[in-house]
Amino acid sequence: MRDLVHRLVGERTLKRDEFRALIASCDSQTLEYIRKESVRTAQERFGHGIFVRGLIEISSFCRNDCAYCGLRRSNRSAERYRLNHEQIIECCKEGYDAGLRTFVLQGGEDASLTDEWLEQIIYDIRHIYPDVAITLSLGERSYASYKRLYDAGATRYLLRHEAANEELYLKLHPQTMSHSNRIACIENLKEIGYQTGMGMMIGVKGQSVDDLVDDLLLMERIRPQMIGIGPFIPHRNTPLGDYPAGSVELTLLLLSIVRLMHPTALIPSTTALATLSADGRRMGILSGANVVMPNLTPPSERKKYAIYEDKASSGSEAVEGLKVLEQELNEIGYHIDYSRGDYKTNDTL
Ligand code: SAH
Repeated sequence: MRDLVHRLVGERTLKRDEFRALIASCDSQTLEYIRKESVRTAQERFGHGIFVRGLIEISSFCRNDCAYCGLRRSNRSAERYRLNHEQIIECCKEGYDAGLRTFVLQGGEDASLTDEWLEQIIYDIRHIYPDVAITLSLGERSYASYKRLYDAGATRYLLRHEAANEELYLKLHPQTMSHSNRIACIENLKEIGYQTGMGMMIGVKGQSVDDLVDDLLLMERIRPQMIGIGPFIPHRNTPLGDYPAGSVELTLLLLSIVRLMHPTALIPSTTALATLSADGRRMGILSGANVVMPNLTPPSERKKYAIYEDKASSGSEAVEGLKVLEQELNEIGYHIDYSRGDYKTNDTL
């Protein structure tokens, strides 16, 4: 096992069978060792700074019906909201005043989020705060739409691939969605010039070790600049409501492997990890993550953006808690890095 980790550190990859063995048979000592190596790799590039991104959940309406997500269309008891233009700008002001220099506009696939409407918001944020990075996470859109929003000033886009294995992908998503379109969207985003984020949940129903290896190999091929990995957490009003949450340890292992494969990638210690374990965020950082995304959504709406239950959105998960976050980070020898934290393309591997 140690030998496999050693090779992964040196070669940045392993063979399919080796990845499978590492994931299937990782014991606690191996996990400790690989986490240490991934932290070393992250520190070589990023020092002890952790980038912060202000997350603004702009709409909980969604036309999709993903089996895992509480915002799915057929969840009739979900409370729906959509922030208006002024509210979004207000969130940015709050975030900017707190020192944040990246805003992530995330939402369900809401037909009311037209290109015109988004363009105007992006344009305004760009003009009021010329020094911030604008990230979008609004699901699948056309090439023309992605291009238009890029031209308006958005430069990063998060679109997790969710499952590299097509069969698993189809089980988790409605018939209206296709694996090929998901991948095409990710490739379009890269081609347009976005810093692009991919990723998947750990422990979602039906996911095997082989599926995780497929995820690793797909991301190795596409080379996203950002990689989001968090445990699956059930939401009672979904078909996966009775399925248990993903394992924290397995999530930390995958974070570590991904860090070793992608030394320069921007990898968040996700809210899902912090939701499952009180110490989740720190454990994510101590497995190679280098980004945290405090919540900037107006507190009155936060609870309604329930992709899973009991989502952490207060304390150090929220923008009001940046001081708490700084303290938490200090305790493990890190600090908040308030710079935009763009992906550095000239950084050789
Ligand atoms: N509609 C956007 C944003 C989705 S929310 C899109 O399609 O990209 C962001 C991520 O949350 C998703 O990509 C998914 O991987 C994750 N997510 C959704 N439901 C979840 C759950 N029940 N547990 C853990 N993560 C979940």
